[in-house]
Amino acid sequence: MNAVGSNLHCLVTLRCTLHIGKAAEITRIKKPMESIKTRGLVLKEYEAGESDKRLLLLCKEHGRMMIYARGARKPKSKFMASAQLFTYSDFVLTAGRGFHALAQAQVIESFYGLRTDYDALTAAHLVVEVCEKTLLEDTQCDELLLLALKALGYLNKQKLPPLQVASVFFIRFFAYYGLAPETQGCTVCGEIADTEMYISAEGLICRIHKPGYGIRLSQAGVYALRHILGRELTGAFLFNARDDVIKELWETSQMLWRCHFDWKLKTTEFI
Ligand SMILES: [Zn+2]
Repeated sequence: MNAVGSNLHCLVTLRCTLHIGKAAEITRIKKPMESIKTRGLVLKEYEAGESDKRLLLLCKEHGRMMIYARGARKPKSKFMASAQLFTYSDFVLTAGRGFHALAQAQVIESFYGLRTDYDALTAAHLVVEVCEKTLLEDTQCDELLLLALKALGYLNKQKLPPLQVASVFFIRFFAYYGLAPETQGCTVCGEIADTEMYISAEGLICRIHKPGYGIRLSQAGVYALRHILGRELTGAFLFNARDDVIKELWETSQMLWRCHFDWKLKTTEFI
């Protein structure tokens, strides 16, 4: 199986996993239980007990982890800041009965600015929903963590349109899985000079080979897509584009999602 095939297999496995079970259970740690230090982003928080929380984290080196934060809902809890959605922290976790419990936490970035803008907040929810729904157990996902942190960082600063940040996040997400569309020329004939181009899950397509489900891309849209896929991660987010071009990129990102996943993201209803 080649790299793309392997990644596709991974996503198909992923669909099955997601149809069978949701994230709301405490993750069973399959390796010997031990205390660990890690950095993690809170993807989801659940109320537990009278004043506790369970937190779904995307952790550096450890990937997906569900942890227990005792007393985190108490107003004076030492975990109050670090046990919030979107917060990125240094954590010390101790082994519990089949799960890890939060022992110490130091906030690195709270992304507080997200709470002050509806569109940025909605896009941030989308970022964590994609991570939450697609992360596999026991899989290291440092590149995905970095991508999520970059996207949340740009949304937090509010210097770029939230839809642009969300579109870049999605397109780079598919590149991370080896599923980036081909952008150099028509995937059927190789034509690159045509000003009327379409994009499918495989890549650009000229008007002669126009697919039934492709998204029409302007020349600026083609350039922006090449920029997003060709730059290193930080630079991929940084470009100026008209609203209609950003809309093309957003539609492209959602077309990719529909082609690779057969279920909808809840947050896209609010975009
Ligand atoms: Zn063609």
